[in-house]
Amino acid sequence: MRYHIWTEGCQMNEADSEKLAAGLAKLGWEPTPKPDAADLAVVNTCVVRQKAEDRAAGYIGRLRKLKESREGMQIAVMGCMVGPRTDDLRKRFPFVDVWARPQNFDVIIRHLMPENDLGGEFWPDTFPEPKGPTAFVPVVHGCNKFCTYCIVPYRRGREKSRTVDDVTREVASLASRGVREVTLLGQTVEAYGKDLPEIDGASRRPDLADLFASLSALPDIKRIRFLTSYPRDMTDRIIRSVGQEPKVCEHFNIPVQAGDNAVLAAMRRGYEIEEFLDCVGRIREYVPQAALSTDVIVGFCGETEAQFGRTMDVLEQVRFDKVHVAAYSPRPGTIAWRNLDDDLPQEEKMRRLHAVEELQKRIATEINAALLDTTQEVLVEGEKDGTFTGRNRTNKLVHFKAEAPAYPSGAAIGEFVHVRIAKTTPWSLQGHRVTAGVAAVA
Ligand code: SF4
Repeated sequence: MRYHIWTEGCQMNEADSEKLAAGLAKLGWEPTPKPDAADLAVVNTCVVRQKAEDRAAGYIGRLRKLKESREGMQIAVMGCMVGPRTDDLRKRFPFVDVWARPQNFDVIIRHLMPENDLGGEFWPDTFPEPKGPTAFVPVVHGCNKFCTYCIVPYRRGREKSRTVDDVTREVASLASRGVREVTLLGQTVEAYGKDLPEIDGASRRPDLADLFASLSALPDIKRIRFLTSYPRDMTDRIIRSVGQEPKVCEHFNIPVQAGDNAVLAAMRRGYEIEEFLDCVGRIREYVPQAALSTDVIVGFCGETEAQFGRTMDVLEQVRFDKVHVAAYSPRPGTIAWRNLDDDLPQEEKMRRLHAVEELQKRIATEINAALLDTTQEVLVEGEKDGTFTGRNRTNKLVHFKAEAPAYPSGAAIGEFVHVRIAKTTPWSLQGHRVTAGVAAVA
């Protein structure tokens, strides 16, 4: 039997799809790259933006025809589109065989094999098959924050952490199959451990720093990344551990969303801008070499020109390495959708979005230019037409050549190499390999 999984959305969804694939493989199912040959087509959906939801709905619609022409084909829809109530969806797509909420893989597996007793060890022993030298590993699911614009808490539920042992066993399994870098995922990753029992003999619960320490002890894991950060959960202990654990990469993805306190309050982000800037200050103090990226929403309900200006001021002041910017669009079911007026014209939202992009292009140009003529450690992730691609420790994309006569065989995927940077752009670094190989942090 063959399955095909179509995935939309964030790294968390990617990781969920891989976990489901591992469960299906355990039952003897095989993947197929196209749904045409699949006995089971799974659509893993995202609703964070309207476009993502529309794409998923369009894809589900197209599967209907396929199902009609393939006897016995089944369709499963999982992910954030599937809320606690699926009545509307069931009416809209009556040909879908099974609906599963995020991480609710069991529903799909049991639908396929109702007579099968999965046993308590089925999922804890099911580890995803890595696709390369890097892997995403969810460590805390869900979110308790309820920002007014966000649908995640309603679809992914409350924060729920995996144990340190569980995560460590999964990462060890990935390492044994060639993974050298893991990215620990959570909607607010520093919330990790808050819901776990206290550590024996210590009057505290495990946190991200404990997880860093446990994973650092795995010899084949050379780099540890984490996202997404949330200022109020970011303790000094966690920040210091990023600076102290050699394998933990010095990169923080810490969304600011807006620079004005009234807008932050309307978003219910749970912090004022001074608190955010204080958090950035502590990161820069304890981990001076850290790169920072952020997320910004422009054109939120009632955002004035002056308030938008304060977002621009914060971007100037902090000088992030990267900014992901989105124009606000209300998501049905959220507090903002219910209670706030989405009153800015689309053209104005786009003008602000482009202003952020322009500002960030200048800042990133300047930051990256400072890396000209430096040597960067790069984990090789891919190759195309003789150009290799990977990332440095601060998560910057690096394209490089590894030429004969020094490197007749180029570079190997999964290898750590040193690259001398000869050219920089706001989005990437380019250069040439300069060492035969790097013993990454032991
Ligand atoms: S912190 Fe806010 S924006 Fe992030 S997932 Fe939670 S509710 Fe959504």
